[in-house]
Amino acid sequence: MTLLDLGVPAVPGARDASGVDTSARPDDARLVDAFGRVATDLRVSLTDRCNLRCTYCMPAEGLDWMPTEEALTDDEVVRLVRIGVEQLGVREIRFTGGEPLLRRGLEDIVAATAALAPRPETSVTTNGLGLVRRARGLAEAGLDRVNVSLDTLRRDRFAEITRRDRLDDVLAGLHAAREHGLDPVKINTVLMPGLNDDEAPDLLGWALAEGYELRIIEQMPLDAGHSWQRDRMITAEQILASLRTRFDLRPDQAERGGAPAERFVVEGWTGHDGAPATVGVIASVTRPFCGNCDRTRLTADGQVRNCLFARSENDLRALLRGGGTDAEIAAAWRVAMWGKKPGHGIDDPGFLQPDRPMSAIGG
Ligand code: SAM
Repeated sequence: MTLLDLGVPAVPGARDASGVDTSARPDDARLVDAFGRVATDLRVSLTDRCNLRCTYCMPAEGLDWMPTEEALTDDEVVRLVRIGVEQLGVREIRFTGGEPLLRRGLEDIVAATAALAPRPETSVTTNGLGLVRRARGLAEAGLDRVNVSLDTLRRDRFAEITRRDRLDDVLAGLHAAREHGLDPVKINTVLMPGLNDDEAPDLLGWALAEGYELRIIEQMPLDAGHSWQRDRMITAEQILASLRTRFDLRPDQAERGGAPAERFVVEGWTGHDGAPATVGVIASVTRPFCGNCDRTRLTADGQVRNCLFARSENDLRALLRGGGTDAEIAAAWRVAMWGKKPGHGIDDPGFLQPDRPMSAIGG
């Protein structure tokens, strides 16, 4: 296979597989796009499987899981991560899924990632099940921190939302993460009308008392059932109004950069590190931050997605398994990112939800 086969720009007017003109791409080793953004934050999905069945994410019976042979092996994941770090300027790696703790080789993948130079920052987004047993090993492997998803502190609600009675396991996992220094431990919460939208102040009070950093995420059109409705989601404005019934919040003046969370200082509270405590709101729908997006994504079957909402993907697995060199894989990844759209387009009249649901992309 040649570079031309990969769609790498060689002549004016060259186009990649999805028809994007790549001829104007500058000679830049990094993951630049046509709008001047540079992707340095890599989200790697390690599986599309999950051991919870959150009602807003996947059906009770689960989904048609990816056949094992289609998923990248541990060595293949590590190779792509290495290319990202060594050749493309990736500086942060977040392992996600599906549920990344279901991946047996997670500790080995983390260890190989943490051994790269320059050493990237490493984190895991998890539902926390089993973290109580894995936190120590993950910390020893070089994991820097965790984001744990938790939508409620009430056991009955937890069972209703996730279709599993496992709240205590999540709480134990969170304690273990803190004990083993996986700081800052962040909590990701999605609020949904009639399910848990009254719980924001309780969740913040609890997170502050425990020294965790709460981030509340607007629900996005990424559910497997395609049932998301704009007028049924809890907006950032509503989230903040609810939090302010109990807490004084002021916008954090710290530089936000490419961070998805808009942070607010919670007056009178101190965080785990002794600095003023903050709460984050991730308003992907009502206050999109695409202009500062610095993310690139790899699915568990080795497809590059240049946006959570992308409608097309670029196949790195075929290159990997077809004998592609590191340089060829890096070139294909650059092309994939060059075609990133300026925004996710949720508000466009013609918006179409991506075929893969959140659990198969990697949240
Ligand atoms: N299993 C891991 C976990 O629970 O964190 C990682 C994957 S999960 C898909 C990642 C995050 O996506 C979770 O915090 C989950 O609540 C969130 N999520 C799932 N569907 C969502 C949606 N439609 N909108 C916003 N967030 C969503």
